[in-house]
Amino acid sequence: MSEINYRTGCGYDVHKFSYNRKLILGGVDIPHTAGLDGHSDADVLLHAICDALLGAAGFDDIGHQFPNTDIKYKDISSLILLKKVFALISGAGWAVGNVDSMILLEEPKIYKHIPEMKKNISSILMCDNISIKATTSEGLGFVGRKEGCAANAVVLIYRQ
Ligand SMILES: [Zn+2]
Repeated sequence: MSEINYRTGCGYDVHKFSYNRKLILGGVDIPHTAGLDGHSDADVLLHAICDALLGAAGFDDIGHQFPNTDIKYKDISSLILLKKVFALISGAGWAVGNVDSMILLEEPKIYKHIPEMKKNISSILMCDNISIKATTSEGLGFVGRKEGCAANAVVLIYRQ
C-alpha cells in the first residue's frame, strides 16, 4: 500500500429503542422514555465514529475489535471504546483532523446536548474539529417509526 499522509473513513451504526435502557449519545445521558439496546451502552454515535476512525487507519471494524460476545464489553461506556480506538490509531501514527457526523432519530430533540457530546469526543480524540448534526427521518422507515436510531460519521486522519 502506498504511503499517504491523509486518509478518510466512514462509519454507520444502528441500534433499536428499548424500554429499561438509558439513552446515551456521544457519551451524554439524555432523559427519554426509552434507550438504545445493545451489548455495550449502545452509543450509536460513538460507534459510527469508532468505525470511521478504524476504517481510515485500515483496522478491522468495531465488531472485530470489541466482540459483542465478550462479557468484558457488556454495558461498557462507549467513551472507553472510543479511547481504545484512539489509542490504536494514534499508536499507528495517526492524528484526527476532523469528524463530521449525523444522528438520525425522530425523538427526543437532542440539540441542547450536542455541545457536551462534542466536548466528550473532542477531549478523547485531541481534536477541536468535531461536528455533530441531528435530523429526523420525516416519519419514514425504522427511524421515522421510532424503532431505532442511526448515525453516520466521516473522519479525516493525518500522519503525525
Ligand atoms: Zn453500535
